[in-house]
Amino acid sequence: MRTGYAATGQDERSGPCVMCAGADASVRSPLQRMLPPGRSRFIAQTPNLVAVPTFGCFVAGYVLIVPRAHVTSFGRLDEGALAEPDELIEALAHRIWAVYSRPALGFEYGNNVPGGRRIEHAHWHLLPSGADLDGWLADRLTGHVIASLTDLPSRRDASYIAVRDQRGSLRVYPVPNQPRQRIRLRRLVAELDPRVDAAGWDWTGNICPDLIHRTVTDLAPASPEDGTR
Ligand SMILES: [Zn+2]
Repeated sequence: MRTGYAATGQDERSGPCVMCAGADASVRSPLQRMLPPGRSRFIAQTPNLVAVPTFGCFVAGYVLIVPRAHVTSFGRLDEGALAEPDELIEALAHRIWAVYSRPALGFEYGNNVPGGRRIEHAHWHLLPSGADLDGWLADRLTGHVIASLTDLPSRRDASYIAVRDQRGSLRVYPVPNQPRQRIRLRRLVAELDPRVDAAGWDWTGNICPDLIHRTVTDLAPASPEDGTR
């Protein structure tokens, strides 16, 4: 049984949510409109999750895993839904390795402050990168190892950073529950990865449509049922 404030599987929405729309296959989202006809934005779908390329796809293979339910962090998902991400992230990390010959780095900023960031809907980053994000955080914050995403903090009044390193180890770092993120994880990863021009870390100014297209082409699911519903 998970402790703390019980996760309900649904948090309050302050207005229209682009991630809710993006995870809904019946919506022709801005991401879908960037792709050629017949090419689905969905790299993978499970009952509770979807995987899509990220806006600001600064390396090919950079995807987001997004819950269909509107929650502010993965820790806020209910137990049933939280059974899925470990397996999906593992499968996508293998696919990334097979396609790009690089290990996958995963991370999430589990910011549970209402109004605290541009995208309030939980999203887990996964990209082929050797960036030592976990080492950078471990030098500055106190974290602890978790065996599974089912062990993520679930409290509504606490925030965390979670990292899945290139060997698949998971670690959680509690961070202050403040409106503004002190650490920009995307920028940090861009700075730590020598292949990336760190000036282009911010998706709002650098959407990278060519790399989005390449990502869905490279990582397209083997079975159409996985990705094109
Ligand atoms: Zn949402």
